[in-house]
Amino acid sequence: MPQLGFGVWQVPDAEAESAVTTALEAGYRSIDTAAIYGNEEGVGKAVAASAIPREDLFVTTKLWNSDHGYDATLRAFDTSLEKLGLEYVDLYLIHWPLPSRGTFVETYKAFEKLHADGRARAIGVSNFLPEHLETLIEATSVIPAVNQIELHPHLQQHAAREYHAEQGIATEAWSPLGQGKGLLEVPAIVAIAQKHGRTPAQIVLRWHVQLGNIVIPKSVTPARIRENIEVFDFSLDTEDMAAISALNEDRRLGPNPATFDMG
Ligand code: NAD
Repeated sequence: MPQLGFGVWQVPDAEAESAVTTALEAGYRSIDTAAIYGNEEGVGKAVAASAIPREDLFVTTKLWNSDHGYDATLRAFDTSLEKLGLEYVDLYLIHWPLPSRGTFVETYKAFEKLHADGRARAIGVSNFLPEHLETLIEATSVIPAVNQIELHPHLQQHAAREYHAEQGIATEAWSPLGQGKGLLEVPAIVAIAQKHGRTPAQIVLRWHVQLGNIVIPKSVTPARIRENIEVFDFSLDTEDMAAISALNEDRRLGPNPATFDMG
């Protein structure tokens, strides 16, 4: 899986085709969508229109909360594949664990079938806390390839990253730029950007890359889409890494997976 991909949350279906096309032209090969984003068709159109061979692309989608359960998962997966216009996805994720419903193990068993059938080349989860992963790993046989969690300099997720590393699960960061707002104006990040002649977004993405996180920044602005992938031709030194790591506040922008139960 490419370490840097393109996220399309909140990109309307009608805009997704052009945003993904811009991203593919800029060199992105991995796209992160979800059934609930309502833009799998737009993503699929961009993939179909591009001349890039399917095997060079990495498409991720996610199962929405209302489709937990063995049979419902199989049906939802068929719908996603159809909207994407693909014969397989590279990665299929359970979007949220919904621990109060007690359905993620059964749901993941359907994921194991999709994996065995080759229609989901890899399977994983999103927003799972270590305790949810423990339950899952105990009850099933395929270790999730990935856990996609909220992760940025204000929420560094040390315990989760450590647990993932022990289990051989890749950590994928959602909202890697902290959704852009305050994070990109933090003086320590701006100072490091000036030192390297880069933008604050590039500094934050480079910090993730050096930590080993997979990142999926989102933008619909072509110049920013291009800027966000230009992070493999410079590096941060120990001091820069430490200054960013000192910004942790354990502060979530999104819901707490222990209690989130919508949809
Ligand atoms: P992000 O951290 O990628 O921030 C995106 C925002 O930052 C943009 O809307 C824009 O305002 C700003 N931005 C982007 N590039 C910039 C640049 N170069 N300079 C200045 N500002 C810039 O936030 P996100 O969209 O929440 O997260 C990225 C992806 O993660 C989503 O698109 C989605 O694919 C995924 N995601 C997954 C979950 C989940 O539950 N699994 C939840 C949220 C997001």
